[in-house]
Amino acid sequence: MSWVDGAAGSLFDLDNLPYGVFSRAEESPRVGVRIGDHVLDLAPVAEIGDPASGLAAAWRTPSLNAFMAMGPDQWAIARRWIDEVLSDDVHEERTAPHLHSLDEVELHLPIEVGDYVDFYASEQHASNVGRIFRPDQAPLLPNWKHLPVGYHGRAGTVVASGTGVIRPCGQRKAPTDDAPSYGPSRRLDIEAELGFVVGMPSTLGERVSTDGFAAHTFGVVGLNDWSARDIQAWEYVPLGPFLGKSFATSISHWVTPLAALDAAWTDLPGQDPEPLDYLAVGDRAGLDIDVEVVLNGVVVSRPPYASMYWSPAQMLAHTTVNGASVRTGDLWGSGTISGAEPDQRGSFLELSWGGQEPFLLDGVERTYLEDGDEVTLRYTARGTSGGRIALGEVSGRVLPAT
Ligand code: CA
Repeated sequence: MSWVDGAAGSLFDLDNLPYGVFSRAEESPRVGVRIGDHVLDLAPVAEIGDPASGLAAAWRTPSLNAFMAMGPDQWAIARRWIDEVLSDDVHEERTAPHLHSLDEVELHLPIEVGDYVDFYASEQHASNVGRIFRPDQAPLLPNWKHLPVGYHGRAGTVVASGTGVIRPCGQRKAPTDDAPSYGPSRRLDIEAELGFVVGMPSTLGERVSTDGFAAHTFGVVGLNDWSARDIQAWEYVPLGPFLGKSFATSISHWVTPLAALDAAWTDLPGQDPEPLDYLAVGDRAGLDIDVEVVLNGVVVSRPPYASMYWSPAQMLAHTTVNGASVRTGDLWGSGTISGAEPDQRGSFLELSWGGQEPFLLDGVERTYLEDGDEVTLRYTARGTSGGRIALGEVSGRVLPAT
C-alpha cells in the first residue's frame, strides 16, 4: 500500500504506475511516474536511491525513449524500485518533495515517435467498413484473415492528448458527384484504438517472433486515429489511407508498462483459418481492456478490446517478418476497436452507419464530428492486485478548418 494520499484503491495505485513526461513552470520536461493524482519526479529520487546505473540520467530527458531503450531487465528493476519507494514509509521524507499534484504540472507527448504503423485488427470494424464503403462486395477482402492488414502512417503528426485537432481540408468526391471538390472535410471521425510502443529495437534482417513481443514492447497508450471519411473514401484505392488520416493522431500522456497488464491477457476470440507459422499465437494473445468513447461528456460507445481478431504480438511479428527493423519509439495502432453490438462501435462512421442512421446525443441527432466537439477515449483493465487500473486516456477537441 502506498503512503501517497489517495493512491490506495484508486485506478492509479501501485499495480499501475504509468510513465509520462511532465514539466513545472519554467522547468524542463522530464520523465515521471503517476501514482494517484500525483506525478513523481523520478530523476532526483533515483539520484539519492541509485536503483541502477543510468536510470537517473535517462529519466532527466524530455521523452521516455532513453529509458525504453535500456530494455526489459532495467524496466523491471525500475518498477520494483518505484514500488518500494512509494510503498515503504522509510522513503517518504526524502521522496515526498519530488511528488507533484497533477493540477500543478503540464503533461507532454511522452515518447519521441519513430515510425508509426496502423493496423486494422478488429473483424467487426473491418466488416462494418467493408459493408459501408463497398456494399456490393464481400465485407472482408481475401487477405484479411491471413495477415494483419496495416499501413505506414505519419509519425510527425502524432500529438499528445489535449492538442486541438484542426478540421482538415482536402479533395472529396461522393459517388453521386461528377467531379471532386476541395474544402473542409464534412465527415470528420475518430477511431478508438490502443497504441503499442517499441522499447527495444530489432536489427535489420531480424524477425521478431510472437514470443518476442514482451522483449521489444515497452507499453501501451490510448490512441485516437482521427479520420476524414470523405477524403479517405476518394483517395484510398489502391494504396490505402493517406491525407484522410495523416493530419493528426492523438495518444495519451501516460504509457502503461506491459507489466501492469499481466492480469489483462486473455485468449483471442478465435482464428479461422489458422494463420501461417510465423503468426502462431504466442505467450500473450488477447487483451481484456474495456474502452469508452465519450463525446462532449457523454459515453456513446463501449468497445471491448478482447474482441480483436489479431493480437499485438502477431502485429509486431508481421511488421518484422520481411526483415524490417523496429526502433525505440516506434508506435503501432491496433486499428479501430469495434465489438459485435451496435453500442460497441469504435467510430462515428459505424455508430451512424455511414451517416445514414444518426444516433442521439442529448436528444440531438448526430453523425460525424462538428467544430467544438470534444472526444475522449478511456480505458480500464484488470490490475495485478485484483482491482482495476486505468490506461492513459486520450482526448481532443475539433477546431474549425483554417
Ligand atoms: Ca485506424
